[in-house]
Amino acid sequence: MGTESSRASDLRGFLREIRRVETQLRLRQARDRIEDLEHKLVALSQQDAVTGLPNQVRFADRLDQAILQTQRADHLVGVLVLDLDRFKRVNELVGHSGGDEVLRQVAQRLEGVLRQGDTLACMGGGRFMVLVPKLNKDLDATKVGKNLLEAFRSPFKALGRGLQLSTSVGICVFPQDGLDASALLAHAESAMYRAKERGGNRLECFTTTLNQVSLERQEMEHCLREAMQNGELQMYYQPQFHMDGSLAGAEALIRWNHPLLGLVPPTKFIPLAEENRLILPIGEWALRESCNQMAHWQSLTSMPLLLAVNVSALQFANGDWDACVVRALVESGLKPDRLELELTESLVMRQGHEDVRPLHRLREIGTRIAIDDFGTGYSSLGYLQRLPITTLKLDQTFISALQPEESEISSEHIVRAIIQLAHSLKLTVVAEGVETEGQRDMLELLGCDCLQGFLLGRPLPADAFEALLESMAAKAFLEDPRRER
Ligand code: C2E
Ligand code: MG
Ligand code: MG
Repeated sequence: MGTESSRASDLRGFLREIRRVETQLRLRQARDRIEDLEHKLVALSQQDAVTGLPNQVRFADRLDQAILQTQRADHLVGVLVLDLDRFKRVNELVGHSGGDEVLRQVAQRLEGVLRQGDTLACMGGGRFMVLVPKLNKDLDATKVGKNLLEAFRSPFKALGRGLQLSTSVGICVFPQDGLDASALLAHAESAMYRAKERGGNRLECFTTTLNQVSLERQEMEHCLREAMQNGELQMYYQPQFHMDGSLAGAEALIRWNHPLLGLVPPTKFIPLAEENRLILPIGEWALRESCNQMAHWQSLTSMPLLLAVNVSALQFANGDWDACVVRALVESGLKPDRLELELTESLVMRQGHEDVRPLHRLREIGTRIAIDDFGTGYSSLGYLQRLPITTLKLDQTFISALQPEESEISSEHIVRAIIQLAHSLKLTVVAEGVETEGQRDMLELLGCDCLQGFLLGRPLPADAFEALLESMAAKAFLEDPRRER
């Protein structure tokens, strides 16, 4: 009996011991798991979600380490910043998941040209960074940059379509271009912006003067905000002609009349205005100003004139933009069918079914809709056909390649095909950038409807355009066979 009760108590003790060990084991497992999760969390917070590459935090960390190690040894450290050119356009074309796919392919190719020990990082939005920790001379960083540019030679693929990409690369080197991670990154970035300003698909090395360039960017943004209030923005008007030489109308083109910089072309400040959304008030101002102007001109002549106004992607994406157009029409008294809104191909292509409803509403009241720079994007013609478009503006690149004496005839074929196709869809074709008599003759032969270009007239300030209008009206009056002698 005695032995039995002691065995029972042993057993209970043994069971308690098992439970205690079990609890400890569970606790240890839980602790391990938590530790494991913590490691994973740290790794994830230092990793770019799309490419799986280190992100900016990890990159800065590695850059700090490389700088420390270099101070002991006698090496240089290279920092390169890459920004894909027009990456927004890739997303427009293939959507965000397609864009992510392209980023992964880019990451793979870049990794392929780097050496072990180099760090490739991704900041998202089409921007990558490279750390080359052991360089003997700064020229070696340029060599790496060239190899990275080369990696973009062949097209990428997304959604089954080939995409030709390029990148802008900015390079700087420790210690001569900066002594800590943040200075080096900022300097490589400003060199990259210089590469972009020079047209992209190239590399630029940081020089101290580049500091001024990034200042200029900030200053430019500040000035642009003031420009609107100070009345420094001005509309120019470039005449458009029918094939018989009569005036068809004008395209309104914005200019910035800066007191010190002089006349700043739109290509210099529209992208910036789009970045900081200033394009919304600027675009609205441009529309109202040019509608008022054209309404005034229309009151001076019986010639029907058309006003073409450019619309930026951001305006388009802003819900009530058709209401803004209607307001400009009502306020100015310009008839809706005298206004043509110019949209770019990529802008229209990326809109969903719902988003193009403003286009339909405007078309219903008679407003004309043109696709600007046609032929440079990747329009699906089937899609275009479903949009209420009235006009195709053939891009300048096709027109400049139109040389009657050239044996190269592909451009002629393309233009002919586009014109035929446009006409079969009952669209008007306007050729932009007509600079030579030869091009004009060829376009006439190919059946183009309207011409715009330096050969026929440059963009003019309002008073100069009014003088042109008066002389054209007088000429039309003199040539009118119905005029009584
Ligand atoms: P775009 O709408 O395609 O305008 C045609 C551009 O080609 C104009 O440049 C015009 O001056 C230029 N051009 C006209 N004929 C010729 C020619 O024979 N040869 C050459 N080489 N060029 C010619 P600009 O005025 O510098 O405008 C550039 C772009 O800026 C415009 O391209 C348009 O996309 C944008 N833009 C201009 N004004 C506005 C605006 O009010 N709002 C918006 N959102 N964008 C605007
Ligand atoms: Mg245009
Ligand atoms: Mg154009």
